Amino acid sequence: MLRCPIQHGFDSATGSNVYSSLAEIMMNWLTNIARTLIRGLADLSPSCKAATRLQSEGLDRKLLFRQRVGLRFHLLLCKWCRRYGKQVSFLRHAAHEHPDEMTEPVPEKLSDEARERIRQKLHASKE
Ligand SMILES: [Zn+2]
Repeated sequence: MLRCPIQHGFDSATGSNVYSSLAEIMMNWLTNIARTLIRGLADLSPSCKAATRLQSEGLDRKLLFRQRVGLRFHLLLCKWCRRYGKQVSFLRHAAHEHPDEMTEPVPEKLSDEARERIRQKLHASKE
């Protein structure tokens, strides 16, 4: 719970101690705010499995604000998912730069002799 520092701990009877206790209260208040923010971000952060899925989806469509924030927070902490994201975007760019090579059939690299040897072995194994 966050508490307003103005309402708590301001002691007019102890005049010299007022500023140090006020500073202490302010520090506690700010610490509580930071903890609450970090806890909230951690709740938004997806698992690694979900983070990889979101990164792939993020290439095709704009993610929801909540998903973007959670994913950003996850990527701050997780180098494996950052690496996955780099690889996915590299593959995406490579596929877009060479679309003709992606649709070409794989060239036949076996020589005629190798084909014949395989054919003979297959026939021999059937008999
Ligand atoms: Zn991860």
